[in-house]
Formats: sequence, C-alpha cells, structure tokens
Amino acid sequence: MNVLRLHDTAEGRVIDVVPREPGKFSMYVCGPTVYDLPHIGHGRQLLVYDVLRRYLEWTGVDVQHVSNITDVDDNIINRAAEQGRSTDEVVAEYEAAWYTATDGLGVLRPHQDPHASTYIDKMVDLIAELVERGVAYETSDGVYLDTSKVPGYGLLALQPLDELRAGARVDVEEEKRSPLDFVLWKKAKPGEPTWPAPWGDGRPGWHTECVVMSLDLLGEGFDLHSGGLDLRFPHHENERAQAVALGRDFSRHWMHHGFVEVAAVKMSKSLGNYTTLTDLLSRTDPRAYRLLVLRSHYRSPMEVVPDTIEQAERSLVGLDAFARRTADLPAADADVTVLDRFREHMDNDLQTPEATALLFDTVTRANGALDAGDTAQAASLAAAARAISAAMGLELRAGGGDDIDEATAELVRQRDEARDAKDFAAADRIRDELVAAGWVVEDTPGGTKVRRA
Ligand SMILES: [Zn+2]
Repeated sequence: MNVLRLHDTAEGRVIDVVPREPGKFSMYVCGPTVYDLPHIGHGRQLLVYDVLRRYLEWTGVDVQHVSNITDVDDNIINRAAEQGRSTDEVVAEYEAAWYTATDGLGVLRPHQDPHASTYIDKMVDLIAELVERGVAYETSDGVYLDTSKVPGYGLLALQPLDELRAGARVDVEEEKRSPLDFVLWKKAKPGEPTWPAPWGDGRPGWHTECVVMSLDLLGEGFDLHSGGLDLRFPHHENERAQAVALGRDFSRHWMHHGFVEVAAVKMSKSLGNYTTLTDLLSRTDPRAYRLLVLRSHYRSPMEVVPDTIEQAERSLVGLDAFARRTADLPAADADVTVLDRFREHMDNDLQTPEATALLFDTVTRANGALDAGDTAQAASLAAAARAISAAMGLELRAGGGDDIDEATAELVRQRDEARDAKDFAAADRIRDELVAAGWVVEDTPGGTKVRRA
C-alpha cells in the first residue's frame, strides 16, 4: 500500500504521514491577509497545496481543506487609513481579488475559509484561558504569552532559543518579559476597529487568530498545518505555543514551501507586470504557472521569469495537441506501470518535477505508439497521461464545444453544494457570478448546467 511521505518541519526530515483517521486528511493552510493584490508567491502557495489536495483526493482520501482569510490586521488598518476607506471596503476588494486569482489558477477553493473577524469571541476565550493558567500576562498595551512557560518552545524555529532571543526585535515601548513573548491581544488605539475583552477593547494578534480557527474547524490533532517558509517562525511556532500551553494537541505534521525568487534586475528590466499574480494571469495561460510550480520541488526556491513562462506555454501547446490527437481513441485502462511510478514520485515528498517528467515521457510514448499504429498501447498510455495530469490539476484541452474552464466548473460545484445545503442566497449569488461571466445557467435534475450565451 502506498504511504504519502512528506518533509516535516518539526522533525527536520521526510516522514510517513500518518493521518488522525485512516482515509481522511485535515489540512490548514495559512491564508492571505487581504490588503493588497496577491503576488506570484501567493500563486505558488495556492498551487502547492492544491496539488497536494488533488493528489490525495485522487488516491481516494477524503480531504478537509481549511484556509483562513485574515481580515483583522495592522496592514489592513494602515491601508484603509492611507486610502481614506473603511477596513471593510479594503477587505472586500482584496478578498475578491484573492478568489479571482484562485479561480483563475484553477485552484480548488478551501472547504472552509474562516474569517478572523467572526472568531473574536473564541479568541478572547482562548486568551482568557491562557491568562488563567498563568502563561499569559497583561501589560499597558496588551496581553502577551510568556514563552518561557511553554515546553519545547522553538521546535519549528530549528534554532537555539538564545539565538532566537538575540535576533528578536526589541521594542522599547513594550513591557514584554522576554523578546520572544508575543502579543495575544492588542489594546485599542484611536481609530482602529475594536472588540470588547476583559483587558479592554482591542483586537487579537495574528498568531491567536490561526490557532483558534484551525482547532475550531479541524479539531485537536489535525493532520497538517502549512504555509510559506517565512511562517515557520514566529507565526507557526507561536500558534503551536498557545495550543501547547493549553495542553491541546495541535497539528500532527508541518509543511512549508519555498519562496518565489525574482532577481531584482530581471524584475525591473523584463518582468514588468508579473509582479502581481493578477497581472500574470491576465497575460498568460494560467496553466503555465501551474506547470512551472510542478516543475520545481515545493521546498526549493523557484525563479519566475518570462522565459520560463513562455517555455511552459509552449509545453502546454504540445499537451493540448496530444489531447486532441488522442481524444477519439477507444476507452482503455490506464497503463498501470505509469500510474505506479507516478504514485512513487508523489508519495516521495511530492516529487512533482519527476511526476511532470513522467507525464511528458508518457505523452511522447503514446505519440510514438500512435505513429507505429499501435492503438491499444496508445490508448492505455493516453489514459495514464490524462489520469496523472488530472491528479496534479493540470487540465489538458482537446478543444471543441463549450470548454468549461476549471474556475467555472468549481463555481457550478459550489452552487450545487449550496443548493443541497438549502443555502439559496449563496446559490443565487453564484448564479449571478456565472451569468456575469457570460454563462447561461440551467437547473436540471442532475444539478446546475452551464452553456455559453
Ligand atoms: Zn496562520
């Protein structure tokens, strides 16, 4: 039986992923703080965890994917002040931009996207419990966690505590007991959005937001907590510290992905509009970015320049031509050897560069079989190529008819879910979104159907 192995940040090595419940997988991906357009690094994040989720689902695992929207944060407050707008307006604009980019990339939306602002009561409760247990203390500007009282603090930092302490920023205004202590509750400053709490009106710190939402939706001992390498410390360390201080089981595994690197000179000279994901998607086939992400291992840094994007677009032309050429082949079972090798690559800490190379190799072999007139062999290899590209979320387009893109298909799926749940307001909102995008929406016994107007 195949076992997924992933690099675990806390262990510092690749280990077997043993889920809390067999056949299920609960994952929390730290989501965006919505105060600006998503950048290409966010695109990599979206794609890395989309590939993980799709692969697990493809192997038959029932995945619960939660990713939050941070809508209470200093950056949002500052942006609103700069622009003379309310924080709600800033949040609404950039959350919409986030999901437009998500859909544009063909990334499945999370099953749940908790918003920090709707969890404040639970955050206040958690902080109160930490204060009661004597692991948090109040100062004139907030409430802080006393990290010296947390066993094993520094696990994810992978650095001795002395070094961390020396590297931590010391703010003279703070009355923290240690530079490593971090804020759980920030007392209100004039003009900021605030909520009531026993320590005075204010708002939660970012680290408290995520620990509360992940435990609330996924429960104790959920399977995976993840995000960019920069979140390892202090964000994830500090989320974990709160759970540990409360004696609660937190995430069983920790996964972190590498950065997208854009050389400064390239950025100014030729990268131009690729600085935001929104611009990248408006100018290129979104599948090209997925292909680029797949061709880099998720833990390695990844460079994005126009050359690599164009190269990926040319590869897609080849894949689509293959899809057209093999569209009418008789149905066949996918080549088992190819599928087995694909699973070996993916189970080995998501070796997507190898898995992608296997896809292209399989396409070449299928084309060769067709050239040689071996239809049965070609059909079996083509079925394998389609299966593994689907498992990585890479759509092959044979063209013809109304091509329903992934983002639209996802909206249709969400609308059916909303209707099943009798959430007609949401169903209507999604219908409006589809109509605005130029689709005719029909309700049929089989669910929502769309066609071009
Ligand atoms: Zn987080």
